[in-house]
Amino acid sequence: MLLGLDSLGLRGVAQRHVPRGGRGGVWEIRCEPVEPARLCRECGIPAPVRSSRWRRFVHTPLGKAGVHLLARCRRYECRTCGGAWEDDLSRVGAGGRRLTESAVWWAVASVVLDAMSVRSVAMTLGCSWDCANDAVLAKGLERLVDDEHRLDGVSVIGVDEHVWRHTPRGSRYVTVVVDLTPRSDGRPARLLDVVEGRSGAVFAGWLASRSEGFRRNVRVVAMDAFAGYKEAVRRVVPHAREVLDPFHVVRLAGDRLTRCRQRLQQEATGRRGTKHDPLYKARRILLKTRATLTDRQRSTLGRLFGDERNKPLEVMWGAYQKIIACYAEPDRRKARGMMHELVDSINARPANAPGELMTLARTLKRRLPDVLAYFDHEFSSNGPTEAVNGRLEHLRGIALGFTNLNNYITRSLLHAGGFRQTIQEQISQP
Ligand SMILES: [Zn+2]
Repeated sequence: MLLGLDSLGLRGVAQRHVPRGGRGGVWEIRCEPVEPARLCRECGIPAPVRSSRWRRFVHTPLGKAGVHLLARCRRYECRTCGGAWEDDLSRVGAGGRRLTESAVWWAVASVVLDAMSVRSVAMTLGCSWDCANDAVLAKGLERLVDDEHRLDGVSVIGVDEHVWRHTPRGSRYVTVVVDLTPRSDGRPARLLDVVEGRSGAVFAGWLASRSEGFRRNVRVVAMDAFAGYKEAVRRVVPHAREVLDPFHVVRLAGDRLTRCRQRLQQEATGRRGTKHDPLYKARRILLKTRATLTDRQRSTLGRLFGDERNKPLEVMWGAYQKIIACYAEPDRRKARGMMHELVDSINARPANAPGELMTLARTLKRRLPDVLAYFDHEFSSNGPTEAVNGRLEHLRGIALGFTNLNNYITRSLLHAGGFRQTIQEQISQP
């Protein structure tokens, strides 16, 4: 009863404990089918047993001990019609699967909800890494990822590129599509899809392969300043509003700030910064939000900006901090006005403005409607970017060690695709 054997159509006949593996060993339960397939389906008369074998199934573990079901599978041959067949064990493991249905869900829940490694899951189950991994991925694809209703109700999406693997020949990229729709009720964003490559064409291709209903439903697409995505939206979902994501705008400004620091370092010393150079030492402090600086960090910046040669850096830093302040302003109408004013003022070439600031100014001016659109949309009030960013960092973490892109994509979706509740429901079923 404890093992739920009757729901698998089995009856236990013997058990023994085998101490092996790194966990609590394995319980081997010998079972018989409750209803042996004795009768010939053609003739309706009992047939003699030709042969018999034990099939091993990996079942849900008991505590740290694995449970293996050794189910007797008899082969029959009809004397009258000559037909041959076996006992039907498809309720135990359909299609020749090694894991029972409940063991697969236990494995999925352990990996996704409890953040257990596949190695650890395999050890507890008493099976190989491949066996556990294949079962988790297959179940993830079949029941969760390929669910046709998964994309229902999506109206706000975010698109971004992401390195999934570093190779000796360079980084390999994926395009990540995130559902930001739940943010409007304060629920977390979820990962919608991961597609190989990064370009407007990849994103356009993804949008084009969705249903017409899905495309019609998309109202807002949040993105970074990469022009390809904008083109894709204009072509495939022309009615949708493009929004430049705060996270990307801040990162864009931060990148320019860093470049400016590196250039000033080169000009002052003729080389890259090292740990004794004040400019290099301040590299992280420069990127911090003003309000989070300690007194010591404030005086470090004070000394840095006191140097006449670093004036352009101070101007760049000031603009960077103002951008952050716009996004921190709770009154969105006011924030929108602040941002508009800021973009105008940096485009008016302030004194000492470095080239890096002017590059940023041009980008922001060109994409101003998309930058300002952020402040006009309800979804944006909950800081969706942090959520997205957190997801991406999480993906980066679990991507380590993946060499197969499809496995990586399935695992990413299992972790960040918003399936926690579904998995919870599955494992709490009696
Ligand atoms: Zn027969």
